[in-house]
Amino acid sequence: MSKFLSNRFKNMQPYRPGIQPHDRDYVKLNANETTLSPSPKVRAALTDALVDGLGRYADPYCLDFRRAVAQAMGVATEEVFVGNGSDEVLAIAFHTFFGDEVPVAFPDITYNFYRDWCTTFDVPFCEIPLLEDFSVDVDALAAFDGHVVLVNPNAPTGMVVPREAIERIMAARSDRLVIVDEAYIDYGGESCVPLIGRHRNLIVVQTMSKSRHLAGAHIGFAIAASELIDDMRDVKFSVNPFNVSALTSAIGIAAIEDAEHLEAFVAENAREREELARELCRRGFHVLPSSTNFVLAKIPKGDAAALTGALKEHGVLVRHYDQNRIRDWLRITVGTATENAALLQALDACLAQGACCPPHPAGGDCAET
Ligand SMILES: *Cc1c(COP(=O)(O)O)cnc(C)c1O
Repeated sequence: MSKFLSNRFKNMQPYRPGIQPHDRDYVKLNANETTLSPSPKVRAALTDALVDGLGRYADPYCLDFRRAVAQAMGVATEEVFVGNGSDEVLAIAFHTFFGDEVPVAFPDITYNFYRDWCTTFDVPFCEIPLLEDFSVDVDALAAFDGHVVLVNPNAPTGMVVPREAIERIMAARSDRLVIVDEAYIDYGGESCVPLIGRHRNLIVVQTMSKSRHLAGAHIGFAIAASELIDDMRDVKFSVNPFNVSALTSAIGIAAIEDAEHLEAFVAENAREREELARELCRRGFHVLPSSTNFVLAKIPKGDAAALTGALKEHGVLVRHYDQNRIRDWLRITVGTATENAALLQALDACLAQGACCPPHPAGGDCAET
């Protein structure tokens, strides 16, 4: 840290994204991205006219893009905020609504960025342990005296939180804000977007990085009551009014309008996910029921960090969290059939070399997935 770093950041806790090494070609199953192309409408949106117009600033109100999102989600344009990835949208929401007065609660096993933002910005927070079966402790969150942040389906478990449970958390206290990060909602679970008319204390955040195959374009949005959206816009205008480029906006509009491709991507992912879960089970892994584009799987025995390292040696990247209760687990992105086969082959090689343990006979927990 330099001697110029502001005191404001003395407790800074930078988020650590999944590694992106370039020393060789990896089968990359550690960051829930995809090698598959986005909707072909995205390419068509990148026109010469768009490039020729890049000398001008894009609309800081992002009206065209917000209209397209509103249309696709069945809400009003005034109820939409768009940003440079849902991480930016979430960070702006945290900045806008969470100070040091009211604490924020989230599950202990969830998207780690929530804790990192709270630590960085000195927002008091409380981590509510997941229940024994890794489901979210809805009663504890409902009873909590403060704001609540959830990701549904939860990450890195992949498990759905029922919508009525989230509604219960909102209804328990109308003076609390509930942020629902729906990064994986297109893969499963019920979106809370239809609830925003009834609940003025709800912010739903979605991303195009996962189900729409656009992590490299980095586009996210929030849906909420217009007074919340106005507050977020004003904070954005106080920091970075042109956060969404003309390119981002054109790509976002093309992608959000292509429901057909989204459906096809999601169906393909579900097929590959079930196959991958079955194959992991056959090898003695315990796989949590996933409604996302990844699985969380407990290794049969041995050291999951060592296995992650051994897989990397074999050219396959997966995610390991050095964190209580999931230290023996791997989070594996569902890849293409070819990528998943490469993972399983590498896994078999690692297991045979004793990096973890010998393959397990079929059986075990397979019925659960
Ligand atoms: C991937 C992810 C995000 C970030 O998405 P971006 O739009 O790429 O910033 C946010 N929340 C969760 C839970 C995610 O998994």
